[in-house]
Amino acid sequence: PDAPVPDWLRQLNPPQQQAVMTTEGPVLMLAGAGTGKTAALTHRLAHIVRERRAWPSEILCVTFTNRAAREMRERVGKLTGGALEGMPWLGTFHSIGAKMLRRHAELVGLQSNYTIIDTDDQLRLLKALIQDNDIDDKRWPARQLAGLIDRWKNRGFNPPDLDAVENESYANGRGQEMYRLYQERLKALNACDFGDLLLHMLNILKAHRDVLESYQARFKYILVDEYQDTNAVQYLWLRLLAQQRKNICVVGDDDQSIYSWRGAEVANILRFEKDFPGARIVKLEQNYRSTPQILAAASGLIAANSQRLGKTLWTDLPTGEKVRVIGVWDAPEEARRVGEEIERLEREGASLEQVAILVRAQYQTREFEDRFIQIGLAYRIVGGFRFYERAEIRDAMAYLRVVAQPADDLAFERIYNQPKRGLGAKTLEKMHQHARRTGQPLAAAALELAGSDELPPRARATIAELMRGFLRWREMSEAVTPSELLRTVLEESGYDAMLKADRSTESAGRAENLVELQRAMEEYPTLGDFLEHVALVMDNDARDDEEKVTIMTMHAAKGLEFDHVFLPGWEEGVFPSQRSLDEGGLASLEEERRLAYVAITRARRRCTIMHAANRRIFGTWQSSIPSRFVDELPEEHTESETTMTGGRSLWQANWSESEDPFAHVSQSRPDRSSARGPGWQRALATGYDTRQARIPENKRSAASFAAKPRSDVEIG
Ligand code: ATP
Ligand code: MG
Repeated sequence: PDAPVPDWLRQLNPPQQQAVMTTEGPVLMLAGAGTGKTAALTHRLAHIVRERRAWPSEILCVTFTNRAAREMRERVGKLTGGALEGMPWLGTFHSIGAKMLRRHAELVGLQSNYTIIDTDDQLRLLKALIQDNDIDDKRWPARQLAGLIDRWKNRGFNPPDLDAVENESYANGRGQEMYRLYQERLKALNACDFGDLLLHMLNILKAHRDVLESYQARFKYILVDEYQDTNAVQYLWLRLLAQQRKNICVVGDDDQSIYSWRGAEVANILRFEKDFPGARIVKLEQNYRSTPQILAAASGLIAANSQRLGKTLWTDLPTGEKVRVIGVWDAPEEARRVGEEIERLEREGASLEQVAILVRAQYQTREFEDRFIQIGLAYRIVGGFRFYERAEIRDAMAYLRVVAQPADDLAFERIYNQPKRGLGAKTLEKMHQHARRTGQPLAAAALELAGSDELPPRARATIAELMRGFLRWREMSEAVTPSELLRTVLEESGYDAMLKADRSTESAGRAENLVELQRAMEEYPTLGDFLEHVALVMDNDARDDEEKVTIMTMHAAKGLEFDHVFLPGWEEGVFPSQRSLDEGGLASLEEERRLAYVAITRARRRCTIMHAANRRIFGTWQSSIPSRFVDELPEEHTESETTMTGGRSLWQANWSESEDPFAHVSQSRPDRSSARGPGWQRALATGYDTRQARIPENKRSAASFAAKPRSDVEIG
């Protein structure tokens, strides 16, 4: 029976209203980006409360992030006239799992005050276990085991559930044993990790009928956003909870499934109809977010994927600008260009809150941060740390600070045992005592201690080795470029090896950040200059109440929207990422393409895609190829531009054969004398960027090849 649509729901379109008002029975809302899925889900929640079909405490509502939960809570509050007294079961899977587990901890051998351990603790535990069990942790690092255990938990596997293949994937068939030991250890500590929050609860629901039934009775309605990114354990959990009443509404978009690397299974959304026969399927096709051009560009791109349901999207928003594709010379120019564009938007009255830069990998934020600080543009990094605040960057900087300034005790303390060298707190204490006694900095005290018998021989040898390193690096710093120095330090200190040994995606990201740091340093002639630059950058405290540009990864941007979106680095090997290309499979490439779709569809009014013709890698210039995704954008909705011609007169003005920094393109590092030559100074004096200013005539063909001009703006 179709009830009349209440006035407050008339702002929604008919299919949305249907999704809101069909409160009984399973509902699947499967629709493209920006079609109002989240909006409909929010209204549905409010509707259930307003109609008093259930108390807020009887509704389970799952969002993908805490931030999304907060927003939903606020909006539902408004829609229900603020009558909402908390929604205890509105949150992420983890937060809801943790809350449930508190009540039933004893059923899995925990006490209700159990601790949730973080990744660091998890690694420390695993490391100890690996050692106790005589497994070579160089070959089988703790991080690898941690990754495997997460994966098993995401798939709902307890130790006995592992099959032979899974078991073999760690230490020649000891995966299961280690997983079991780890779980026992956690139990003994009255602790659990993030994966356990759901796996324990799933085990409880399966083993204890009464508990399951009490939740089935409690949750009169279940709502789930971003359903395409649920993993197996979340899926099993929801299916159990919903099995009784079957009032479950899930919303998602198969084209936006971007977390398979974390165990998400898009198949979950595709089999919803099988799990809940008779489910009402609601399709939303009207997009309310983006201009027709943005929508067409995104739709055209995603059409290249073979594994998708396919859907139509339309909008009646007024026509806007075409999606711009800008080819620039290199990464610094990319950042400069984005900075200029944002300043222009600001002059036109746009709010910085409505501007986002979405990157594929964390390391890409550095160029933008440096640039924005230079021009005084306030920014925030969402879902991560600012570049120079990341742990590995701080470590690397600490090494460099000690090299430059041996009296920098804080820096020394940070890295004396990083990577782990077996120097503990006791050694540090000794060093401090000695330093105080003799009135010397820590590093000098360490050097002296290495030659005295106050420390055990092993510690002495280790310190001596480290200090020899510092002396060597210090000497070296006079002769080589800062970035070369850093490269040596990372290698000789064992820092690189530490990252390499640990095979997680996380550590791959750290390694990328360190490469990016070296790239950043290449712009500075001396170590001192660079350290000063970083000190100033770190001092950039934008005020809290100030409007800011958002910089974040595409993954973190899921579900969000901004008027103006910049998408830099659309080059093969950056996006799609090198990793996805190396894996080679169609599946990983299609996931990258879905990510591109997510990224473009965050934009409401303007979307600007950029690619650089050159990237510097270890001092070597390499020309890069625009992303295949650029080619896949429908031409009639994009507008290409390359900035290559703009600098032409400058190149000619500043160019002289003897200073060619590109003479060794993809051969060797530019040598420092040329970087300090008169061309460098002249460029600084005139405020022009040397790299752009000195592109030699004979290299322009390379530039035009890489930039693939798509418009009538031709080079040469
Ligand atoms: P995504 O797939 O990116 O998560 P979504 O389908 O969840 O997108 P929403 O974020 O809910 O889409 O909505 C996109 C935009 O459209 C929001 O600004 C929202 O306020 C607006 N919107 C949603 N429904 C309507 C409607 N019926 N009329 C006008 N605007 C709407
Ligand atoms: Mg949404």
